[in-house]
Amino acid sequence: MNGYDVIVIGGGIAGISASISAARLGCKVALVHNRPVLGGNFSSEIKVHITGASGGGHMFARESGIVDEIVTEARFSSIFGRSVWLETAQDIVLLDMVKQEPGIELFLDTEAKEAIMEDSSRIRAIRVESEKGSFTLSAPIFIDCSGDGVIAYSAGAEYRMGREGKEEFGESLAPDKPDGYVLGSSLMFTTKELDHPVKFSPPGWAYRFEDKDLPYRSHSPRELNYWWIEYGGMLDTIKDNDRIKEELTKILFGVWDHIKNRGNHRAENFILDWIGQMVGKRESRRFIGDYILTQKDLEDGTLFPDRVAYGGWSIDLHPPAGIFDPGHPCEQYKLPDPYSIPFRSLYSENIENLMFAGRNISASHVALGSTRVQGTCGVMGQAAGTAAYLCKKYDLMPRDIYKNHIKELQQLLLREDCYIIGIKNEDPEDIARISKVSASSSRKLEIENFTTLIPLNSPIGESFMVTDSRIDDISLYFSSTREREIVLSLYKVNSLKDINLDDLIATSREKLKANFEGWIDFPVDRDVNPGYYLIKVDGSPDVYIGYNPRSFPGIQRIDLSSKFNTARGVYPLRLNPPSKPYGPENIINGISRPTCSAPNLWISEEGFPQSVDLDFPEPQRINTIYITFDTNLDTPEPFRNVPEPECVRDYAVYYKINGERIKLLEERGNYHRRRVHRFNEIECEGISIEVLSTNGDLCARIYEIRIYRF
Ligand SMILES: Cc1cc2nc3c(=O)[nH]c(=O)nc-3n(C[C@H](O)[C@H](O)[C@H](O)COP(=O)(O)OP(=O)(O)OC[C@H]3O[C@@H](n4cnc5c(N)ncnc54)[C@H](O)[C@@H]3O)c2cc1C
Repeated sequence: MNGYDVIVIGGGIAGISASISAARLGCKVALVHNRPVLGGNFSSEIKVHITGASGGGHMFARESGIVDEIVTEARFSSIFGRSVWLETAQDIVLLDMVKQEPGIELFLDTEAKEAIMEDSSRIRAIRVESEKGSFTLSAPIFIDCSGDGVIAYSAGAEYRMGREGKEEFGESLAPDKPDGYVLGSSLMFTTKELDHPVKFSPPGWAYRFEDKDLPYRSHSPRELNYWWIEYGGMLDTIKDNDRIKEELTKILFGVWDHIKNRGNHRAENFILDWIGQMVGKRESRRFIGDYILTQKDLEDGTLFPDRVAYGGWSIDLHPPAGIFDPGHPCEQYKLPDPYSIPFRSLYSENIENLMFAGRNISASHVALGSTRVQGTCGVMGQAAGTAAYLCKKYDLMPRDIYKNHIKELQQLLLREDCYIIGIKNEDPEDIARISKVSASSSRKLEIENFTTLIPLNSPIGESFMVTDSRIDDISLYFSSTREREIVLSLYKVNSLKDINLDDLIATSREKLKANFEGWIDFPVDRDVNPGYYLIKVDGSPDVYIGYNPRSFPGIQRIDLSSKFNTARGVYPLRLNPPSKPYGPENIINGISRPTCSAPNLWISEEGFPQSVDLDFPEPQRINTIYITFDTNLDTPEPFRNVPEPECVRDYAVYYKINGERIKLLEERGNYHRRRVHRFNEIECEGISIEVLSTNGDLCARIYEIRIYRF
């Protein structure tokens, strides 16, 4: 033993998340990575941006936990004081995050070569090679996050490579018969615009592409994401990697030659700024766990009792011939909801001390089409790293954690800001759960602001929570160029996502004058049961409705023309009497993101300071406070260019003793969702958090507060 509790192989998003999570819980971790920079496909060597469940079109589904820390830090790093998107500095951000964990020993430029076995079902150590030579690292638990599963393969872990046929798992998206094809690999490039024309002559060995050779493949010189330069799906993406890279290089120069020299792409002033030298892989080996996740699980949203992670990216499958396929370069099958990922898909069926996370998990080829995105890889990594901690705590193997400690694993993941569909905080150690919560104010459900007016060509819908037992009026914002009548129908529904229009409560009609713009009150005048309601406004020509592209918890825009119905953004809305779903009690309700049942956060009225108080039934000794702020989980990762305005920026924490409020700490310049404050143990009767400002929003917002004595 070198004294490690766990060895993680591969420093992509999955491996980084696994390492950080295990180290934060007290494990001694060796992270073995064969490149000079961390990040895997996200690194500056490959430049694939992180997406996840939110990118699959699901509301408030962006990954929290370590993935959110990575994305947030990479975008708004305090180290560089600027956005570092797609620049080499993001490698340094990852390095810094790993270096901040004293429990991680990082081996960069170190190739994990082979597993050294205790017996046929247990790994004792791994042999690695670096400039220092060949040496071994040993630990009781191994997590293979290397994508290709180098150590898992060497250990003899069961795996598959290629596509299952339709029949095996009843997957409609699988090919009729099984075959050896996989998703192909890619080389990325970036461009730069100069203020003068620059010629480009391709190397003689580059391919030549005409427009007809690049169907459905948009290719402007400004494009950053040439993911469709794809090849190798019909080869062995591990053994044939050199050949695939050579072909991809010929393709890349051929595509650039096409953009520069063939047809009018307005590319005269553009140059190639950077060309990837590392192949980005999408698929190779998938290792077999106690469960294989399938298309059906993703589509049905199977809620596994051992769920520890989730995904939501569409099932994104590519033709094996890649760029040489005359059809679309990918087919994306949108999923109705985010789906859960069972812990049994993260450990090996036959190697007892081996887990995996990332694109190599136990999933069918079709399911991999969704699980492979890096946000999802990261949450799986955090789950595996957290499970490694429990293996150490109980001196057990991963399968034993599944059998005997799965609830503890789930609760730990929630504590560390992961999301597990349908599971609430039930941590008995969390002192906040027994406290009485109150706040300086709570906002009512109302959207006043909008950025644009959009045509009301077809019916629109919006659902919202009603906390009162009466609806007198509902008001919406319109403009109209001609005199028109607007018809609003109000329905009782079962959740914010429910679009069943069977239970009509009221219909209200109002006239808009020609050239009108403003709020229109629709009288409803009904006693109602508190719950969820949906309004439908019939389409009307020459009429426009206010629209705000930013989603808002507790209000759900419904696209009545789409199969999946929920849509980003909101229509401005006023209710009379007001609905108040943002009370401070949400802070300890156990869920720390909006769901289709509730917004699950406290939002104050406008103006600062605002405060929230947690008072204990009797004095408690405490030394740690977790606070979860709002970073708008509805903003997909690649679109986060500035700190989220909703996120609290400056705040102070007080503790209460003998009726006095004493300042414990003050933080300035926050832009993170999750903050953990550790301090010398104190005895107190409660705590108070004073919000002094946000990154732009006029209200204070907090999802969750947890209080511990560790
Ligand atoms: C062109 C392209 C576009 C994509 N688009 C997106 C997208 O838009 N959004 C998104 O989120 N995902 C996207 N993906 C998918 C995503 O990038 C991968 O599925 C994901 O990176 C897998 O994460 P991982 O951590 O499992 O593996 P990786 O990111 O591959 O990281 C594994 C790391 O392990 C290292 N390693 C391998 N072998 C060893 C060894 N023997 N010893 C030590 N280290 C080793 C590798 O060098 C690598 O850095 C795309 C992929 C490609 C190729």
